[in-house]
Amino acid sequence: MPSEFRGKHVTVAGLGVSGVPAARVLHGLGAHVTVVNDGDDERARAQAADLEKLGVTVRLGAGSAAGLPEGTELIVTAPGWKPDKPLFTAAREAGVPVWGDVELAWRLRGLDGRPAAPWLAVTGTNGKTTTVQMLASILGAAGLRTAAVGNIGVSLLDAVTGDEEYDVLAVELSSYQLHWASSLRAHSAAVLNLAPDHLDWHGSMEAYAADKGRIYEGNRVACVYNVADKATENLVREADVEEGCRAVGFTLGTPAPGQLGVVEGILVDRAFVEDRQKNAQELAEISDVNPPAPHNIANALAAAGLARAFGVSAAAVRDGLRAFTPDAHRIAHVADVDGVAYVDDSKATNTHATEASLAAYESIVWIAGGLAKGATFDELVAGAAKRLRGAVLIGADRALIREALARHAPQVPVVDLDRTDTGAMLQAVQEAQRLARPGDTVLLAPACASMDMFTNYNKRGDAFAEAVRELGA
Ligand code: ADP
Repeated sequence: MPSEFRGKHVTVAGLGVSGVPAARVLHGLGAHVTVVNDGDDERARAQAADLEKLGVTVRLGAGSAAGLPEGTELIVTAPGWKPDKPLFTAAREAGVPVWGDVELAWRLRGLDGRPAAPWLAVTGTNGKTTTVQMLASILGAAGLRTAAVGNIGVSLLDAVTGDEEYDVLAVELSSYQLHWASSLRAHSAAVLNLAPDHLDWHGSMEAYAADKGRIYEGNRVACVYNVADKATENLVREADVEEGCRAVGFTLGTPAPGQLGVVEGILVDRAFVEDRQKNAQELAEISDVNPPAPHNIANALAAAGLARAFGVSAAAVRDGLRAFTPDAHRIAHVADVDGVAYVDDSKATNTHATEASLAAYESIVWIAGGLAKGATFDELVAGAAKRLRGAVLIGADRALIREALARHAPQVPVVDLDRTDTGAMLQAVQEAQRLARPGDTVLLAPACASMDMFTNYNKRGDAFAEAVRELGA
């Protein structure tokens, strides 16, 4: 058991998915733990009561995190806490280190003499969950003990301190988590893409990119980047990596030596083969990737790059991709009705994700709208104008999309739905059916958050699927 925590005064900032396990683990390691939490609702009180039974001190309510609790030697924070909070200012002034949940998990690897599984890490604005799940599927197909962990399902802390032993972990990391993870050193890592997101938290695009770029620091074998997204390559260039670590690009085109890419419908590896000037290794067919939309092929190539960096065979890449099924509401084919395909990409909650899904179909009736979160839609609409048969707009900020359509795609018929009740999605789908022709795709890819009309994007996607079933009934 590492002695570094015994008797140490640690403040855990934030209850919830990362704070509660962090407090438990640190208490178990002999630390004096104080939890501070802005909220003071019923759930927080229940969590606090459980922790207090163990002997953890918990302070709830708005003022609880105003200053540094007496004697604090270390802060472990929930990733979402903004760096400009007074607690962190006080910590900086007092020279107290601040770790995120990922940093704590990283430092607890190898606890009790267990083998410390290396991490294959993934970040990016979009596609993280899908890529990490593909990667775990590939590693599993290679016979390795692994799990998809991090900003997804299983917490890293549980994976690192739990009873299960792993050979390697497929780790999804958000920009927030990376911000607070200064000593993390992945075996290999990928940044899938970089588009403006969460800028209010990070303060600027530069700061956001710098936090994402942290994932490459100290990589040992490969830094996997997106050839089509120069910003990801720049992050590799700026990273301080281990001697011999390689930059490996992935591309939807023909790969140069040192890259993975696509040749005549085949995913190929020209990075992890002997004599890569002349040779390429066939990995899988495009049809092995589910769904075979362009951005998802890119995700598959990134996952394959990380797996190959870990020494996984080409056959395991193919088997793992074949075995993978995406989570719900990510380009999910719901049904065909009268020759029209209905596709649910409710998870496309920003314009970058929606751009990818609009690029995947030839002729589209687009259902969009919701909460725009400060986004603008001109570029998105201009890029997709040629593919749009029509558009049906829903939600609070639909006027922003309507105006962009008027500017860049004035010929496209638009239905503007001024209702937010539970029947709104059914009407949206009926209007889309009216606009669609056989061979078209009706695509729910809202480019917006859902909370103005639905509890979350899952519920929005469920409402879409239910409406489609009513059409076919
Ligand atoms: P994340 O975990 O980063 O949110 P997901 O895999 O859950 O990513 O996908 C989120 C959304 O982003 C989906 O709607 C999907 O259509 C879109 N998406 C997935 N991969 C990519 C990609 N490589 N580039 C752009 N958009 C993508």
